Amino acid sequence: MLYTYSKSSVTPTWFQDFVSAMVSGVLRARSEQVPASTWQAVLPAAHESELLGRRGLESRYEDLKKASLTLSPEDARQNLLATASSSFYEDVLSGAVDYRVSFAATAPFNMALKDLLGFSFKLLREIKNTPGDILSLRDELYRRAYEAMPEHVCPFCGLSTFGAPHPDMPREALDHYLSLSVYPLFGSHLPNLVPMCHACNSSFKLATDMLIADDGTPRVCVDPHGSQTAKISLANSEPFGNGLLPRWVIDFDPALDAFETWDQVFKIRLRYQENALNTNFKGWLDVFARWVKTSSVDVHDSNAVSVALSRWAAIIGGFDDRGFIKKPMFEMLASSALRPDDVGTRVTQFVQTLCAL
Ligand SMILES: [Zn+2]
Repeated sequence: MLYTYSKSSVTPTWFQDFVSAMVSGVLRARSEQVPASTWQAVLPAAHESELLGRRGLESRYEDLKKASLTLSPEDARQNLLATASSSFYEDVLSGAVDYRVSFAATAPFNMALKDLLGFSFKLLREIKNTPGDILSLRDELYRRAYEAMPEHVCPFCGLSTFGAPHPDMPREALDHYLSLSVYPLFGSHLPNLVPMCHACNSSFKLATDMLIADDGTPRVCVDPHGSQTAKISLANSEPFGNGLLPRWVIDFDPALDAFETWDQVFKIRLRYQENALNTNFKGWLDVFARWVKTSSVDVHDSNAVSVALSRWAAIIGGFDDRGFIKKPMFEMLASSALRPDDVGTRVTQFVQTLCAL
């Protein structure tokens, strides 16, 4: 990821506590081999009027109670222990705990859980944290994330901008980072619901398992609320390796396995090559050349060309206009201009010709 979301944008809500209490109550009853509470009995008194008529939620709660009978009391007890851990989600996400080992659910129970938590996720669009709130829980989560972002671009790709939160405008999708189908317990867990652009969410990630590769092997992934962020390096690219275009070598700095998972899931390298670098290479150079000409920047030899490219790289950057990938492109050209082989000469002549036009 290019940046991560602020942990402070995710705050506990009564609805999340209620959903967790439904699941843990059912597991506790099964582990103790006693009947689970009735629907009326599980409703929190402060929100009873809001929840009482929600038949969809009630029927799914009843389905979960029935499905819990397919669990052995011992498995129910083990699952209750997992849900009681305040760090269970973080432990699963970091790979410290294997979800399927810690949460030993039968297929019917998993199905009922997915149904209940998926329905609860949809209700986030309607339910508010306090009666006076203007925004629903889901829109409020997006608003908080949006306001804490360093720039309003998708942190998973940097290629799409995020719309401002406004009741009359659609907001970005909230992705189940750990998918609902594989990790139903986290289906309405707010830290697992991350704003993501349409392309990342609907064209690339879909329901991909962030923790298991296509060949079934475990893998590590970035925590969207953690501290690992990637910078893009193009230092190993060849300036004239692909006709009129460079042969791009896109590296992540630091070189973490979690960033390779990011690439596998979101096709980051391919998208940067095709949708940013190849598409914009000439246009970005044209803007640079205009700056050289209008500012009378010296490009009379290789050293001067390299200095000019470096100065331009220092001006651009950040997330605006894809600066996070434009800047390393100019840095690569700046160092290439100083190469002692004929590539250095070609880069110098190429830039001089461009700036003379
Ligand atoms: Zn994106």
